[in-house]
Amino acid sequence: MKTLILGAGYAGLAVATKMKPLPELEALLIEQNAFHTFETRLHEAAAHNTRVTLPIQPLLRGTGVEFEQASVEGVDIDAREVTLKDGRVLTYDKLVVGLGSVTNFYRIPGLAEHAAELKQLSDADEIFNFVNRVYSGEYQGNRDIVVGGAGLTGVELVTELAQRAEVLSKERGLPPFQIYLVEAGPKILPILDEALRQKAEKTLRDYGIHILVGHRLMGATEGSVTVQTADGEQKVIGAGKIIWTGGIQARDIVKGERLEKGPGGRIAVDEFLRAKGYPDVFVIGDMGLALNQDGKPVPTTAQHAGQQGRLTGKNLMHLARGQELEPYEPTTLGEFVSLGGLMAVGWMKLPWNQKLAITGGLAHVMKKASEWRWRASID
Ligand SMILES: Cc1cc2nc3c(=O)[nH]c(=O)nc-3n(C[C@H](O)[C@H](O)[C@H](O)COP(=O)(O)OP(=O)(O)OC[C@H]3O[C@@H](n4cnc5c(N)ncnc54)[C@H](O)[C@@H]3O)c2cc1C
Repeated sequence: MKTLILGAGYAGLAVATKMKPLPELEALLIEQNAFHTFETRLHEAAAHNTRVTLPIQPLLRGTGVEFEQASVEGVDIDAREVTLKDGRVLTYDKLVVGLGSVTNFYRIPGLAEHAAELKQLSDADEIFNFVNRVYSGEYQGNRDIVVGGAGLTGVELVTELAQRAEVLSKERGLPPFQIYLVEAGPKILPILDEALRQKAEKTLRDYGIHILVGHRLMGATEGSVTVQTADGEQKVIGAGKIIWTGGIQARDIVKGERLEKGPGGRIAVDEFLRAKGYPDVFVIGDMGLALNQDGKPVPTTAQHAGQQGRLTGKNLMHLARGQELEPYEPTTLGEFVSLGGLMAVGWMKLPWNQKLAITGGLAHVMKKASEWRWRASID
């Protein structure tokens, strides 16, 4: 059974590391980087240059999975072909697609051209270098940062940057740069319960972050953004760096006549995470549109991507052994949002569907624990 696994993110790497060598199984993992990126920690890399990658090859020891660093150009699931950027065309018996998502700029004028993103290591490096330049003592331009989107990524980024600015300002005797968090919706972090949300909001205010909720980002230029309030008032905010974290969409790389796509271009999958109408193609992580027990889309998170990957790895082994597939049953074990340094807020799941709210240092430890669990699961 010739199996291709595309992408070594949370989903694809979980598949590969769940596999075991079998004579009838030939598996190849294809990823554009030689390393796995802990995407959930990119805000730390952006602020502190923390190491957030891990070489892939050693993680595949004992799995029977081969690794090739290559970029996928297109996937045609009617022809059962994967085309690589170097022109090679690969065929498969079973395919796993876990190529993640890209930033959605919603066609806001100038945004794609002038805003940085936070989706890969090079984005984090760009932000880190800007902060360093601002504190170099020779920088003459606008020092302020505008972050669009007050979801998990935006909030984790602004708090980490504010913390870094505090440290650098003390060290170098320069004033901190201003941080503007722009959000079209009425509140930051809508995924959290109100009490936790308010706690997070207070932390942001204590850092001196300017929270502009109810402000729609209308356009961006080289050094500014234009925002508009619900009653139509427009303001221009100058910025040395604009960062957009306001939306994602599934990577648009798979073509198939019978493919069904849902919100954000995610590919609809069946109970075994196979693209509907294509029983040999598993689509997992941010690219897949899996439904939970209530028929609602499973969130695009690392937690769910990892669960889907582990199940798919197991199911590939079942297929190779001629056994039945196991259906996908998503669970959300908790959600934690880091708020810079050792601060975080979030909740963990308790028996009988109860939620335990946790804030402060303990929440930070819980967030770290989920990262350690991920690290241990791929070893
Ligand atoms: C800053 C930030 C913080 C986040 N925090 C959290 C959090 O706290 N908790 C949480 O659960 N989720 C969090 N998320 C979301 C989470 O990171 C994503 O949901 C998760 O990464 C999705 O996993 P995936 O495997 O689908 O995609 P990815 O992890 O993005 O992996 C896709 C892989 O495919 C590779 N690839 C892409 N295109 C190609 C190509 N053409 N050829 C070859 N390889 C390719 C990429 O290099 C990448 O390795 C956060 C995201 C960000 C950006």
